[in-house]
Amino acid sequence: MNETIKYIDRTSEIPLTGVDFLGIIDRGTNILELKPLTQCNLRCKYCFVSSGDYDINFVINSNYLIDKVNEIIAIKGNYNIEIHLAPYGEMLLYGELFNLIKNLSDIEGVTTISMQSNGVLLSKNIINKLKKSNLTRINISLNTLKEETACYLCNCAKYDVDRLLNNIYSLLDSKINVLIAPVWFPGENDRDIEDIIKLIINLRSEGYSEKQIQIGIQKYLIYKTGRKLKKIRPKSWGYFYLQLSKLEKKYGIKLKLGPRDFGIHKRTKTSMLEFKKDDLIKLKIVSGGRWKNECIGKINDSLGIKILLKKPLVFSEILIGKYIEAKVIKASYKDNILTAFFPYR
Ligand code: SF4
Repeated sequence: MNETIKYIDRTSEIPLTGVDFLGIIDRGTNILELKPLTQCNLRCKYCFVSSGDYDINFVINSNYLIDKVNEIIAIKGNYNIEIHLAPYGEMLLYGELFNLIKNLSDIEGVTTISMQSNGVLLSKNIINKLKKSNLTRINISLNTLKEETACYLCNCAKYDVDRLLNNIYSLLDSKINVLIAPVWFPGENDRDIEDIIKLIINLRSEGYSEKQIQIGIQKYLIYKTGRKLKKIRPKSWGYFYLQLSKLEKKYGIKLKLGPRDFGIHKRTKTSMLEFKKDDLIKLKIVSGGRWKNECIGKINDSLGIKILLKKPLVFSEILIGKYIEAKVIKASYKDNILTAFFPYR
């Protein structure tokens, strides 16, 4: 794990929306996705955000995040809000995790707090603390029940599947819902996906309800800046859903989950972007990014932007505080995420 860590609080001037890898993502629904850190304990061969490889990691102060969440909820309406902790990294590495969950759960209108985790760091003690903090659900990215395959996929020497399974029982017995979210790598873990389906069926037959233990199979997606599993070509969405339908029939279990299954509905979007691709915008550089060719810009107090630096320019501290004009190369209204390029000529 890289040791260079940048801590972000209100004095850092780094806004908490607009940047994909950090802060808060608002997709115009009742779910707010929080990304409080970028560190990971694994370095999976398939990681679509290349976590574990960053030159600089980021950790956000929990009070800074909570204040912003409060502001956003005041606009969205304080009812039926889900907070989903989904970092480009491992949530259990966040030092303020239990405080963060507890304080979020105290906000009026927050009814669900869910988090993503690879589950490797879970222990009885941590599960007790998660329960006391009012965590509703944990999504665990378990791709296989075979230790050897898990080690290969997660690029690690040891992966204790039995320990993880015991911890899943402890979570369920603590009344924390569990969603097992395996990534399906065609030709690599086909049998393993079926093993996980059987595990879910077994757990349900032991008395855990469909709400307590869920499965959400994920399609393997390849991103330009992510790591890729050699030899595996992702299939089309059509093929993916066809396979899910076949497995649904074979095992008599619902595998295709949609927004309705998670109570997701449309709500006011807070930081509406007015930018579009190719716009030129003025901004202030407030920080370096995860890699040498990346930095973070500030458009206003709440809206930030990721800036990609054109080779051979790399980030250096002299850039901090500089006002520049950059070209927008991505303005995603759906996710409220902005990326710009500098210098653009
Ligand atoms: S896939 Fe998840 S657990 Fe694996 S390196 Fe990426 S963020 Fe970490």
